[in-house]
Amino acid sequence: MVILSTEQPQHVQQVPSINTDFIQADDHLIGRLQNAVQFQTISYTDYFRSNKSELIRFREFLSKEYPLIHSSVLVSLEVINEYSLLYTVKGSSSHLTPYLLCAHLDVVPVEESMWSVPPFQGIEDDGFIYGRGTMDDKQSVLGILEALEFRLKQNDLPKRSLYIAFGHDEEIGGKKGAHYIAEHLKKKGVTEVEFLLDEGTMILHGIVPFLNKPVAMVSIAEKGSLTVELTMDSAPTGHSSIPPKETNIGALAKAICRLEGCPLPSQFGSDVDKVMYQILSVEMPVAVRFFVTNLWLFGPLLSWFISRNPETDSLIRTTTAVTMFNGGIKTNVIAPNAKAIVNHRIHPLQSVQEILELDKKIVNDKRIKFNILGESFEPSRQSPYDESAFGYQLISTSIKQVFGQVVVVPATMMANTDTRHYSNLTQNIYRFCPTEVTRKDLARFHGNDERISILNYRKTVNFYYHVMLNADVVSLKGTHDHSHEL
Ligand SMILES: [Zn+2]
Repeated sequence: MVILSTEQPQHVQQVPSINTDFIQADDHLIGRLQNAVQFQTISYTDYFRSNKSELIRFREFLSKEYPLIHSSVLVSLEVINEYSLLYTVKGSSSHLTPYLLCAHLDVVPVEESMWSVPPFQGIEDDGFIYGRGTMDDKQSVLGILEALEFRLKQNDLPKRSLYIAFGHDEEIGGKKGAHYIAEHLKKKGVTEVEFLLDEGTMILHGIVPFLNKPVAMVSIAEKGSLTVELTMDSAPTGHSSIPPKETNIGALAKAICRLEGCPLPSQFGSDVDKVMYQILSVEMPVAVRFFVTNLWLFGPLLSWFISRNPETDSLIRTTTAVTMFNGGIKTNVIAPNAKAIVNHRIHPLQSVQEILELDKKIVNDKRIKFNILGESFEPSRQSPYDESAFGYQLISTSIKQVFGQVVVVPATMMANTDTRHYSNLTQNIYRFCPTEVTRKDLARFHGNDERISILNYRKTVNFYYHVMLNADVVSLKGTHDHSHEL
């Protein structure tokens, strides 16, 4: 188990919003996010379907709105594979290893009739900005640029160099964007970055049971994915007037029922779980704390409790989702075959091969063929999150400086990001979005009425600003106290 103090660094002070190192949100800053939403940079599953001129217009908008970034001798912008963007910001100290901030320019499609406001207008209502991309991920694209532009304006020049990578097809896997950026960095001779921060898990309000404080989840790993096609074609076929005892459809349906009825084993109790629950328990009522801190005894009980809710259940195991089922060709013909697709999101403690073997064991029917489809990949490596992990501690400190009384915990991300394209550059990969969400807000993510509060957006900008300020030191020792030297 990782040795880690579960004490949260309480002595990190929130930055008062009147401080000189707190970027104020004037109408221009909010207006830029509202305008950014208006570019319909939608990624469709079919890459060639998306309107690439929106990406070009969005790029032109960014260069107009952030003039210092786009004119500074310290910053160079390279357009990668026509639409992705790579900024290189030269720091004054060549001794400090550069870091990489990532976000993405594209958004997922909308179902316009389901929205209560137009999704591409950036409408403000009751303190919120509505629009596709306000949570995923234009708030981060603009947040990073606002922070850098502010620093250049203050003539506060970065000491540590940084790269800013904005992919243009993250929502469909990043093969045309982040993949090319990573290749380009390699060609430029960039072999190592100190840490990487990309979009990811968020700040949860009222979602973790027994906890009053918000929880910022910084993901140190990503689940893998396995898509399996199951085929059944050995049952007798023919006319429906003389049916066999079992059809291909019937046999495959039974197999699918077995898979759904038998969730893959809980992985609860891993190092990350232990650390996460130890940190959370400090903030929980004493009675609950007793259970959570004695996992050796109450682990199975806690695992059962967590698995009652699909959102938390998916954190502790490899999930099984039946996504497609096809069979039959005619109403009076016994189906010559039946096919189903099952998608697993693989827990970091398991592998593609292991899950495939488990599936075969659960189905227990030699007649059914299993075929792995192309889009399968192993879970990511786990990034360090102990006290000496510079990137993790820097992100954690920045969260506390800007968001105040939040509990920061390491977590595993269930979805996937562009980070896997950059895995050769560093062991220190973190996935975190400074977005505050309640349980209800989770449905807005890739859903309808996506929005961010103006207050939250202001904190988003300041989060990236503090990441940049904190990154300018050699080590984090001494920066925990905000009054120190930031
Ligand atoms: Zn995203």
